[in-house]
Amino acid sequence: MAKQYWIGDVRSGVHDGEEVELKGWVHRTRGGGKKIQFVVLRDSTGIVQCVVKKDVVGDSCFDDVANALIESSMIVRGRVESTDREHGHELQVESAEVVGPVNPDRPFPITESAMTEADGGETEFLLDNRHLYLRTSRMTTMLKLRSTVFGAIHSYFRDRDFIEYQAPNFVAGAVEGGSTLFEVPYFGRKAYLTQSWQLYAEAAMPALERLYTMAPSFRAEKSRTRRHLTEFWHAEMEIAWASNEEVMEHGEGVVRHIARKMLDERSEELSELGRDLEVIAGFADSPYPRMRYDEAVDALQSKGVEIEWGQDLDYSKEKILTDDFEVPHFLTHYPRIAKPFYHRPDPEDPKYVLCHDLLAPEGYGEIIGGGERTWSEDEILERIDEEGTPREPYEFYIDIRRYGGVPHGGFGLGVDRVCTWLAGADHIREAIPFPRDSRRVTP
Ligand code: ATP
Ligand code: MG
Repeated sequence: MAKQYWIGDVRSGVHDGEEVELKGWVHRTRGGGKKIQFVVLRDSTGIVQCVVKKDVVGDSCFDDVANALIESSMIVRGRVESTDREHGHELQVESAEVVGPVNPDRPFPITESAMTEADGGETEFLLDNRHLYLRTSRMTTMLKLRSTVFGAIHSYFRDRDFIEYQAPNFVAGAVEGGSTLFEVPYFGRKAYLTQSWQLYAEAAMPALERLYTMAPSFRAEKSRTRRHLTEFWHAEMEIAWASNEEVMEHGEGVVRHIARKMLDERSEELSELGRDLEVIAGFADSPYPRMRYDEAVDALQSKGVEIEWGQDLDYSKEKILTDDFEVPHFLTHYPRIAKPFYHRPDPEDPKYVLCHDLLAPEGYGEIIGGGERTWSEDEILERIDEEGTPREPYEFYIDIRRYGGVPHGGFGLGVDRVCTWLAGADHIREAIPFPRDSRRVTP
């Protein structure tokens, strides 16, 4: 195979003085002179200026390059030179070939100015052109950060002997309550898209004891918020014999590990997005404090927020609570009435459940929800009945308790939310290539 050269390496100087072949897309053109022109070429690793001279490349090649519009694909060959100009290294082109031209009647619609006018990517125009917007430097950077987050989650769990395990996406019952269930026709019956892997993971808990996944979950979130998607990536774990406290240690562990990997692998990209690396280091190194739900309610009331004991905390309240946090905080012991049936009541005070949410600082709010599961048959039946949930779709789930139930727990982490927070982005849709919400399934 021909040697692959990367623009990122050219920019770091490792190819100075060498003949290289670069493959990429036209990012910008400059000059357009009769004898010399400048093409800024982009590949997945960066951009570099290419100097094209008519007397070197010949007339027809010079014209081809001159006519190549933004986002035309191109192969260029030449020598790398280091220069005093701000970009440091450039290519003196000896030959060039336009591979995939762009039709002048349909120029690439997304320009830097379109992005600025669109206020950082929030307009319908950029969402309509999302398939093209992916090529912009901001989105490319986001996708790289996202890949690091996924890699870090896998390595955290695999290094600790967790088994990756897959659950079905078509299911018969809710995990998180009926209001966000997506119903799908299923051969004359109704099925639902899963809201979580958890219930089926609990079935494998007696077999594998330590298991995890990363998979999409689906929730029919009607209101459009900065942190809800209808299809999101959910990293979930389940662990046998574990207490709420032990599950929290893993939640803290995986989030720290992600922050550390970001610093190791993506410092440059984080800085490009304006993220202070010291702040990220705090997420990797400082302990995450624990706070009971009741303390959070007191803290909110003392800030003048109207909240009644027993309410779940929505985003507006989490935002106020976390605005001046510097590291993630755990909130534990929510009221039993605020949480679904699978949460285990606290034996010391059954008004509460043994659960936790991990709230990201800087106003971002919940990134993890987890806790201990109700694990005896009597207790699960009592919880299902008090919630008024039909038992029938959950028979398999009750069986897990009937046949050798053990204490266990787990959590779900919203991967897209973690990416949004670590990138310092304003909106969750910045952190996923094709965001899905109540109004959009295209492109
Ligand atoms: P919220 O109260 O913010 O709607 P939740 O309590 O319903 O979240 P859980 O059921 O605890 O969420 O799900 C576990 C994790 O999955 C959450 O902590 C969050 O990070 C993520 N998550 C949940 N719903 C969504 C969504 N619609 N879009 C993106 N991530 C989500
Ligand atoms: Mg939750």
